[in-house]
Amino acid sequence: MFLVFLGAPGAGKGTQAAVIAAKMKLAHIATGDLFRDEVKKGTELGKLVKEYMEQGKLVPDNVTIKVIRERLNEPDCASGVIFDGFPRTLEQAKALDKALDDQKKKLNKVLYIEIPDQELLQRLGGRWTCQQCQAIYHEVASPPKKSGICDKCGGRLYQRADDNEATIKERLKVFHAQTAPLLEYYQKANKLVTVDGKLVIDEVTNQVLKVLGK
Ligand code: AMP
Repeated sequence: MFLVFLGAPGAGKGTQAAVIAAKMKLAHIATGDLFRDEVKKGTELGKLVKEYMEQGKLVPDNVTIKVIRERLNEPDCASGVIFDGFPRTLEQAKALDKALDDQKKKLNKVLYIEIPDQELLQRLGGRWTCQQCQAIYHEVASPPKKSGICDKCGGRLYQRADDNEATIKERLKVFHAQTAPLLEYYQKANKLVTVDGKLVIDEVTNQVLKVLGK
């Protein structure tokens, strides 16, 4: 099964994608995580994407599409993938359709995790991410048992460089301008399902499983 998790930054795409991918034995491809990893390793790609990420802007489509095409060729993607944070533009959405088509596969569903901007601002401001396994915590809504340490793997938690107020506002602006048009694209393709992202994490997961017929 090939699924896209669509939503503004902070909507819970990453959290839900990780849970659902584990439950349904699907590969989890998060372009943001892929890019952060390249930045950390200091590769050519990392150097190229760093500035865009720090400014809350999108990495150019040709770069992002190439990364996804390569990742999709890896064996763990053969039987299904959850795309998290990709596609983010119409061009990326069309490229994904083409890449899957080339492999005689198709996108099954697009889950839009809907949440008001005001709540996103609060969520992203208090977000802590595990350096090791990328698990996500919130200092008020879902704090780790031990401050600064990941419950799941013991890794250190950090605040993403782009989780500051100015960049968060820019990322939301970019979402509304460039990613929100995908809702209509997938609606027309009869693939769009909307879930309420304001609920607590487990309830959102239950809704997602329900719309997937699980
Ligand atoms: P995320 O972790 O999904 O919030 O992504 C963090 C940053 O990585 C974004 O603000 C963009 O700069 C970049 N990025 C992630 N996914 C994409 C994408 N599909 N297209 C362009 N840029 C992306």
